[in-house]
Amino acid sequence: MPEGDTVHRAARRVGEALVGKPVVSIETPHPRFARDRWPERLAGRGVRAVDAHGKHLFIRFDGDLTLHSHLRMSGKWGVYRPGERWRRSPRRAWLVIRTADHEVVEFDGPVLELMTDSRTRFDRRLAALGPDLLADEFDERAFLRRLRADEPTRGIGDALLDQRNVAGVGNAWKAEGCFLAGVDPWRPLARFSDDEALELAHVLRPLMRESAASGGPKEARVYGRAGLPCPRCGTRIRARGQGDDNRTTYWCPGCQR
Ligand SMILES: [Zn+2]
Repeated sequence: MPEGDTVHRAARRVGEALVGKPVVSIETPHPRFARDRWPERLAGRGVRAVDAHGKHLFIRFDGDLTLHSHLRMSGKWGVYRPGERWRRSPRRAWLVIRTADHEVVEFDGPVLELMTDSRTRFDRRLAALGPDLLADEFDERAFLRRLRADEPTRGIGDALLDQRNVAGVGNAWKAEGCFLAGVDPWRPLARFSDDEALELAHVLRPLMRESAASGGPKEARVYGRAGLPCPRCGTRIRARGQGDDNRTTYWCPGCQR
């Protein structure tokens, strides 16, 4: 599942392909968009910026129109040279933007909408997002304020997945961050000092930003490693569903407190 680092990396690649380049064509092959007339509405407009906030990606066109996408579990952005074979079936393409040098393709939706720039600022779902852990400057005070406003009995692992607390963290980085900070994902928010909560951001930020920049393989310490020995203390790693969405969390009961 794409987390904030993957989406930020996609935004950079899509931006390099589109910003300042004449758009040759825009297509929306998925039948869901047949009546939306995006090709007509976007005709002749250039792309002035591509950016991301957490797991949300925005393609900002000239004249106040912005495409907003969220990949959820299955979506993917692809950037290809003309004629290069796409990594997913063209039947799964929802959006294709062509320039002279690139084809930018969004596969498998499921959140793809055209909105005005002002709506990207006032849309309730987007306005509710917490500070982006991958932003050039992370707003630590906003992060702490939102954690403190959350349910004090909520486990930190569950709270980190809530994009209203902090944007960008998904299930894999949540498990890795708790492990690296030596924090039990089940420990309730009420039992965190500000410094302990910020330590999670401090261990995750450089790793996620590095991944966003390089896209190199992630080396999991606990994620997906249930039953294997902890790389720090040798105790068997455990796995159990956590939170309303029952997302599997991985942790070492020996060295995470
Ligand atoms: Zn351990």
